[in-house]
Amino acid sequence: MESTLRSQNISAITSEFKKTYDLSQKCPVCNKKIRFGVELGFLESVKRFPYPHIILHGNPIHALVVYIDADFMVRGIETACSIEIQRDSDTFSQIVKKWSNPF
Ligand SMILES: [Zn+2]
Repeated sequence: MESTLRSQNISAITSEFKKTYDLSQKCPVCNKKIRFGVELGFLESVKRFPYPHIILHGNPIHALVVYIDADFMVRGIETACSIEIQRDSDTFSQIVKKWSNPF
């Protein structure tokens, strides 16, 4: 009984994080459908729309940049195949944090 309650709590938290996960966009570089989302708290902090959201993916790694408007619609895209990741401890710890909660 206790474990059932615990799993319900976890799923409620997950669905809250994934509330905006239903967007997807085809990447012109790899031709794959990329699903993505944005943290709910982040949307509230955006001052100017549309704003850029970057999804790193693929092999070789590249970036899909989607421009999202206030209604959480994709208004434009671009890609970047030239990627650099700074090799310092602040960046590394932030990448690990993003990895555990990708939004
Ligand atoms: Zn791609």
